[in-house]
Parts: sequence; C-alpha cells; structure tokens
Amino acid sequence: MNVYLDNAATTAVAPEVAEAMIPVLREAYGNPSSSHAIGRKTRVIIEQSRRSIANLLNCHSSCIYFTSGGTEADNLALRGAVRDLGCERIITSEAEHSAVIKTAQSLERSHGIQLDLVRHLADGMVDLTHLEELLASGPKTIVSLMHANNEVAVVQDLQAIGLLCQSAGALFHSDTVQTMCHYAFDLQTLPVDFITCSAHKFHGPKGVGFLYIKKGIQLGGQIEGGSQERAVRGGTESTHNIVGLATAFALAYSELENHEKHIRGLKSKMATGLKALFPDVRFNGNSDAENRLYTVLNVSFPPHPKSGMALFLLDLEGIACSGGSACSSGATLGSHVLRSLKFHDPERASLRFSFGRYNSEADVTNALKAIERVFS
Ligand code: PLP
Repeated sequence: MNVYLDNAATTAVAPEVAEAMIPVLREAYGNPSSSHAIGRKTRVIIEQSRRSIANLLNCHSSCIYFTSGGTEADNLALRGAVRDLGCERIITSEAEHSAVIKTAQSLERSHGIQLDLVRHLADGMVDLTHLEELLASGPKTIVSLMHANNEVAVVQDLQAIGLLCQSAGALFHSDTVQTMCHYAFDLQTLPVDFITCSAHKFHGPKGVGFLYIKKGIQLGGQIEGGSQERAVRGGTESTHNIVGLATAFALAYSELENHEKHIRGLKSKMATGLKALFPDVRFNGNSDAENRLYTVLNVSFPPHPKSGMALFLLDLEGIACSGGSACSSGATLGSHVLRSLKFHDPERASLRFSFGRYNSEADVTNALKAIERVFS
C-alpha cells in the first residue's frame, strides 16, 4: 500500500502537465534569445506562458519573472529590496520558511541591515499591533510575511498586512508558495509588492516558479549574466519547465472550487478519524479549523512510547507524511516553526499530513488504519 500525504513538500506532476512539456523538450529546443525562427518560436512559447499566468492573477505579464522556484524567488525579492531599492531593514517572523529567514539573516551579516521579528499571537496569527509598532519608525523597510505556513497551516491576512505596510511606506513581500493555485489572487486589489510561486506545489514540475514584482518596481540583476527576464535573472530560460508551470497553473484554476471541496473533505475525514482514535489528539496551529490552509493538517499525537519512531513506522506501512517536532527520543528533526510558535511538546509526536488532487477517501482510510497500528 502506498499513500502519499506529503503534498505540501511536493506533488506528483499532472499527466496533462507532462504531456504539455514533452513536445517542448522534443521540438522547441531553440534558444529563446536567438534571433532565428527556431529561437523565436521558443520565445513565443515563453511569453504565451507568462501571459496565461498573468491573466489568471489579473496582473500585467511584465510583472512575472520566472525563477528556479520558490527559494530563488524569495531570495530575489529580499536581496533586490536591499541591494536595489534602498531597504535597510527587513521585518519578518521566526515562523517563515528558511528561504526567507536565512536570506534575511544573511543580509543582516553581509549588508548590515536591521532585522526585526514580529511576534505571533497564541494561535499563530501575526500580531498586527506589534507590526504596526515596528513600522511606526525605522529606516526604509521590506516586510516579508508568508501567506500560509507550510507546517501548521496558519493563513495570514495579506490584505491587513499589506495595508499596514502601504500606510507606513514599507514594501511587502509574501511567500505564497503554499497558497498559489490553491486560492485565487487578484493582484489588481491585493496590496502586495512581491509574491512567490513554486510549480511543484500544484502538480507542476520541480525547478521552476516565479517572482511577481508589482509594476513600477525595478530590480537590478541578481543573477548576473545574460539579459533574460528583463536582466533581473540571467540564464537561458527553462522552456519546458515554464510550459509545465503555465499548464499546471491553468489546470489548477480550471478546477479551483472543486479542488478545494475535494481536499477539505479529505482533511475533515482525517481529522474526524484521528479524534475518534485519540481523544487527546491536538492539531498544531488549529490546523483542523476551517480558516486554516485546507491542504495541511498538523497533528500532535498523545504521548506514546513509539512517538519518536512514528514517521519511520508510518513509512514502513507505506504512508508518506512528514515530521515536525523534536520528540523526546530525538528521532525526528526539530521544527523551527513549532518551536517559534510554541506548539512544540517534546512528549508528543507532531506529524504533518498534506493532501493533493490525487488523494482519495480510501487513502485517508488506509492512513488512519496504519496510524492505529503504529500507535497501538
Ligand atoms: N516557501 C515555502 C512556504 C515552501 O513551502 C517552500 C517549499 O518547501 C519554499 C518556499 C521553497 O520552494 P522551492 O522548493 O520551489 O524552492
């Protein structure tokens, strides 16, 4: 039995996506920067992909800068803000993805920027009063706060954060890697300057994503070399991956409502099943609540002698999920997110189950049976 419940880590490539990529690999091999017809054909394919994504996000296609994925897009935004836009301070939080925290720390070391961490409320939401206090004074700032947390599913209010940033004259970057193509975005109204995307989180290929940069903001070259991506990101474009990204994007938007309904159903079945098995089960970050990221359920299991081995034992049962908390045995790696949000309990195993398009009710039933065996 194989049950894949680790879709927040990565997803299976959709057959439609693979189908769209193959002819590009086989036939559209021209260098998009070449002036001859074979190269021009590839350039057209890239620009069509860019336009199709931009249309779905309701933004101009020149705002989409293709990258190798979410990590690079996060780096590009933060490094660009400091290097090219005069930001001398980054406000972020300890619960961010390491693509943001480590980049901010690196800029603190290399460029002497001020790094301020905004507090969270007990439920994992950003403390907006604290953010407002931080923004009330200080040098030119970029705020970087993720939309949905990849471990505990807390969804931040981008509208409220963006408006606070706007009124303080700060730039706002949000890592939207876990919500892009699971939630609809309207970039004409959402008050963000930068958001990020990674195709492999919604059944696209690995190694491709983009940074959205609001119209009017000009970054310098972060990856030096050719003048691709309007000289912000040099390097020959990964044409087949870009087509895969655009195809996965269109596919996701064509079924956004049904997708959400399907996955909410699976997650709710899992949460109900777990509550029936373990009366003392907890959901880190209230990840079972309606207003949390609907693809992720972070479960804190009651203390059990096999807690430290749970991830490994589930793997042996054919269940793929991911670990999160440092159990007392030290068998799983600690999670900086659970620690920073104070959800970490050394006596309890925390496991993340994350759902995707190809999961079925039978997957949930089988996972629950395996969990029961592991914790028996
Ligand atoms: N940001 C978040 C919230 C993520 O979950 C991930 C992937 O795990 C990333 C960034 C990194 O994306 P990529 O794997 O495309 O570099």
